[in-house]
Amino acid sequence: MRTLSRRLWIVLSLSLLFGFLPGYVVPTEAVSTGDRVWPRSAYERLGKAADHGEITLKEAVLSKTQLLFAPKTIAKDHPFGVQADEVPVAEECLTGFYKDVHKVFDELTEDEEVFLGSLSPDLSLIVTAREREKSEALGVSRVGALPDFGLDKEVEGKYCIIHYTLTGANASPDQTYADLVKKYMDMAIASKMTTHFKKAYVEGSADFQGKLHAYVLDMDGNGEWVDVSQVETRNKRAGYIKISTKIKDNFGTGWQLKMKGLCFHQYFHGIQSAYNALSDLWFLEATAVWASCTYGGVWTHLREYYHGRAPDPARRVFTDRYLLRLDRNDSGRVFYHRV
Ligand SMILES: [Zn+2]
Repeated sequence: MRTLSRRLWIVLSLSLLFGFLPGYVVPTEAVSTGDRVWPRSAYERLGKAADHGEITLKEAVLSKTQLLFAPKTIAKDHPFGVQADEVPVAEECLTGFYKDVHKVFDELTEDEEVFLGSLSPDLSLIVTAREREKSEALGVSRVGALPDFGLDKEVEGKYCIIHYTLTGANASPDQTYADLVKKYMDMAIASKMTTHFKKAYVEGSADFQGKLHAYVLDMDGNGEWVDVSQVETRNKRAGYIKISTKIKDNFGTGWQLKMKGLCFHQYFHGIQSAYNALSDLWFLEATAVWASCTYGGVWTHLREYYHGRAPDPARRVFTDRYLLRLDRNDSGRVFYHRV
């Protein structure tokens, strides 16, 4: 009996460890962030094809670039043309896109580099930084300029500078919205994240130690960290953050909580890039969600991030605050972490 109990205990422990027990235990909070349901997208289908080795990463990056910046240039009969039940792009976090650009950069032709650089202030900055790195010794690359999104206002926090506008296509809902980004970004940078880990290297200062720049813009995802210049080695990169102007519109009465989780999530991507900017995306996303829960205390962020997708039994979240199981994109990528 004692042996059986012990065996049962071992089986139960292993089951718990590997997340085989059915059901969900998701911590609840009083305020709902209005579980956003994301539509099917050609971008997601493209990501899966690249994950499964059906197309090369370079092919994926070039087609993703079209979907993000010029969706009308992809023909409907192209394998990754936008189908009737899809939108071009619907991703919570587009941090991975810029990492993929860095990963394939050396494979790009001169024409492809010029094309990418013409599409957005981010890509233009990345192309400039990478070209400079080719001609300079490791560790001395510097980018003198930050991206120019045409935002006419800024508000400065203790550790960050938030760029925003109240007019035009990139208009934030109001001044309070930008102030909230500042508040939560400062809170993330002052949290135990930066005592447990290195601080993020930030673009826009000679030693990458200045204040973090964040831009509030109309964008496809909720937010993103953009890797730009290399620091010390090729895989350590400085960058900046972009936050959507639509968090208040998309996340109901709990949108402020969502904003807090988002700021912690994106800053943790910056911390990751101070170690290895080019690690596997599923690992980077899973740990960024984990960090937003652990350091930001925003557990609804977790629920929205993984349940907000179209209902699909293959995508499950099992967590009891000791074990976190995250399945991403049905491709068998599973992450376990003791919280
Ligand atoms: Zn992310």
